[in-house]
Amino acid sequence: MEKTFVFGSHTDVGLQREKNEDYFSYFESANGEVFVICDGMGGHVGGATASRLAIDSIREHLQGKYFEEPKEALAQSLQFANQQIFDQAQSNPTLSGMGTTCVILLVRDTQAYYAHVGDSRLYLWHKETLQLLTKDHSVVQQLVDQGTITPEEARSHPNRNELSRAMGVAAVVEVEVSPSPYTIQKDDKFLLCSDGLTAHLTDVALQQVLGSQDNPQEKALQLVAQANQQGGTDNITVQVIDFRHIVPPPNTSRKAWKKLKPWLFPLVIIAILATVFIAQYLREQRIQAEIDQRIADSLAIVATEKRITDSLTSVDKHPDTLIIHRIKKGESLARIGKRYNVAIDSLVDWNGIDEVEKIAVGIPLKIKAKMVYTLEKPQTLEALYEERFKRWENFDVTLKSLRRANSTPTDSLVGVLPKGKKIIIPDLRVIYM
Ligand code: CA
Repeated sequence: MEKTFVFGSHTDVGLQREKNEDYFSYFESANGEVFVICDGMGGHVGGATASRLAIDSIREHLQGKYFEEPKEALAQSLQFANQQIFDQAQSNPTLSGMGTTCVILLVRDTQAYYAHVGDSRLYLWHKETLQLLTKDHSVVQQLVDQGTITPEEARSHPNRNELSRAMGVAAVVEVEVSPSPYTIQKDDKFLLCSDGLTAHLTDVALQQVLGSQDNPQEKALQLVAQANQQGGTDNITVQVIDFRHIVPPPNTSRKAWKKLKPWLFPLVIIAILATVFIAQYLREQRIQAEIDQRIADSLAIVATEKRITDSLTSVDKHPDTLIIHRIKKGESLARIGKRYNVAIDSLVDWNGIDEVEKIAVGIPLKIKAKMVYTLEKPQTLEALYEERFKRWENFDVTLKSLRRANSTPTDSLVGVLPKGKKIIIPDLRVIYM
């Protein structure tokens, strides 16, 4: 939670007192920002000593220790100050009987905590309205509470300086701490003051000055000046604090969400596309790996078969021979089966492929043939057939099947074929037509 405040302070001896026994301070601490005014009393030097000692002790306490609970910070620091004053008064005869009032405002984040002892006051100016947050610990306040006198009469009552509670006059003091903190809002103003101000200025006068456009220091000077204009019967001390800005704590998750929101739709689309592309890529990788594996398997088989077929020249020595057919564009299993006189089922079995799987171009298919014959001399397919196969009646091969197995639309076997040319002899023992 961020806040911006400006403040002004001023103290004056007044027109009738010889010395100023008021004391005030502003300081920062781990417990928050602190504004405090003390109005001392008693003896020749006691009053000034008590108010100064009170504030020094409070500062020492609040700056020396962090309190989780601000109310506890206020209660303990004022109690500590009370003890310091009381001890001094006990040990030093010249300070005997000294004491002080105290009003203190502790601002933690945007929460205002306050406490007081005696008749120094804290006012809140909120939305054009002045509110007294503290209630004097004084004899006249008790009379007002009883209904004996009015607040206006209290201002000029002969017992108006008599306190019902003060710091330093006993070993323990009853500190009045605000029951719950006030949440500061933008344009709120606080006024701390000693009774030298309120003895002369009415709430209406205070409200007029606080609500003006002047800066807090000008307001502080004005208030003191007005009290002096009204007689200045006592020391006058004021602190005015204007809260200019209150910034709510940044809700980081909401902030991040707001930042992200315009990007969310594109991000989702990108994520989906990325997923699709990655899936596609992995699929292609897998297919390619399968193809590579099949080629590797086939090449191994081909190498083996080649050794066998190369060594054979006699037809009757040939076992079933594996040939490799690399799938071309537009070829179906049916067409390949017809060419080599093998059933689609057989192709599926030999190659471990799915019949309905789209046949990828370039995939090597293993196909069993009767044999692969290597031409021992240049000759035509017809001549080879006449010379080598026709005469073996048990060797089921026809010229038509030879043409079909060995030629493609782009690679027709016509004319004289070179020596060493491999001729596929399909197995016609079973007819798949
Ligand atoms: Ca006073």
